[in-house]
Amino acid sequence: MPQFDMIVIDPERAKDVNIEQHTAGTPLREGGGDETYRCGCCKTKLLVSVAHHDAHGVVIKCGKCGKVNTEPHHH
Ligand SMILES: [Zn+2]
Repeated sequence: MPQFDMIVIDPERAKDVNIEQHTAGTPLREGGGDETYRCGCCKTKLLVSVAHHDAHGVVIKCGKCGKVNTEPHHH
C-alpha cells in the first residue's frame, strides 16, 4: 500500500489544466488500486487506494487547506 505526499503548486501554474475540487472529509476518488495520495500541505487523503493511472497527471485542490496539488511522479 504505497502512500505518497502530493506536490503543492502555485495555482497560477495550473490555470491551463483542469483542477479537480476535493471536498474535506471524503476522498476525491477511492478504490481500484493500492496507491494513496495525500495533500502535500495538510496531509489530508485526497485519493485512497486508487490505481496509478487514476492519479497520473491529476491536479487537485484540497478541500481542507485550499492548496493545489499535483501528483509527485513527474518531479
Ligand atoms: Zn490540504
